[in-house]
Amino acid sequence: MSDYQKISPVAHQILKKYALCDNCLGRLFSKKLHLSSNKLLGKKLKKNLKSSQKCYICKNLFENLEHFLKLMLDASSDYSFSSYGVGTIIKPSIVDRDDIIRSKYKLRGIDSVKTDITRELAKAFSRKTRKTIDFLNPDLTFTVNLKDELCQLRSKSITLSGRYAKTLRGISQKQKPCSNCSGKGCRVCNFHGISKFDSVEGKISQFLFEKLGGTTAKFTWIGGEDKSSLVLGSGRPFFVKLQNPLKRKLKAKSKKLDSLKITNLKMVSESPKTPLKFNSSIEVKISTNDIVPKKLKKLKDLKKNPVVVYEKSGKRSEKKIFSVKYKKNSKKNFSLTIKAEGGLPIKRFVTGDDVSPGISQIIGSSCKCQEFDFLDIEVK
Ligand SMILES: [Zn+2]
Ligand SMILES: [Zn+2]
Repeated sequence: MSDYQKISPVAHQILKKYALCDNCLGRLFSKKLHLSSNKLLGKKLKKNLKSSQKCYICKNLFENLEHFLKLMLDASSDYSFSSYGVGTIIKPSIVDRDDIIRSKYKLRGIDSVKTDITRELAKAFSRKTRKTIDFLNPDLTFTVNLKDELCQLRSKSITLSGRYAKTLRGISQKQKPCSNCSGKGCRVCNFHGISKFDSVEGKISQFLFEKLGGTTAKFTWIGGEDKSSLVLGSGRPFFVKLQNPLKRKLKAKSKKLDSLKITNLKMVSESPKTPLKFNSSIEVKISTNDIVPKKLKKLKDLKKNPVVVYEKSGKRSEKKIFSVKYKKNSKKNFSLTIKAEGGLPIKRFVTGDDVSPGISQIIGSSCKCQEFDFLDIEVK
């Protein structure tokens, strides 16, 4: 006796008590027969048995998947994507009735009704859009709520790297978060987490939101500067992770945003997990009471030993200085150009505030940092 012949009487026994749609009936036996289409098997098992009753398990949900497919198409119409995954929420009563049948007839190792609905929806979407189903790491993830007839959509974040040069003073690196949500994203800030766009962070974010859509943009900076600092040369590297983007590709490799120049824009797999090591060339304008040329000369000694930086937290770090140049500009002003390991706190280095040796200490006179500019930043 073939497997089919063994199954057929069981199917008819069930059908005598419960009306089932083709999908639900076929699903109860398809695994055992190694068949892929529940619907075709269900149809075959029913033969001429016609019933006008609704399916006991799903209440004919499989006949109405078109409606939910439309919700998926509408929800995703603004997105560019190549792969997608689907999750579903169905009425608990459907799951309960499925369990009743499965346990009553001891049907083990079969798919649940929820699994089948999810797969049918995913397949229907694929037929319509020609996109690839990917349940592990898709570009778009649908959550279709068949209970409340809703479709939610999440798009996988993308990460970009780039560099910015700043040719005008007075632009902060970071943007203050939205005061209503402290940066989490809310209706007031259009879910961006920031509501103004006048900093480096704000201007780059705004550009990305315009080009790619998305909610929040989270930056990883390779070092930082003052609002009054310029960033010259090839600029400062940064990484930015864009949540919920509509588009996943950026054509522009560079962009001028007022006095910011963004270059080297490209997609990367993720932001660096540990801080990147980098060196900065910095020009510092320093004022002091009186400049003694002999003492200025001692600045050259900075190359001999690393500068030690102490933090309030008790953390201690060392920063190497690779080159030192200085120039007396007037009786009380001089400029210092150094190439140093990234992360040296310039203002504190000048005053000598928990940085040893500090410039004040070396030239034996209290010094103040007027302004400092980045001439270049190189990632090691
Ligand atoms: Zn059914
Ligand atoms: Zn907000």
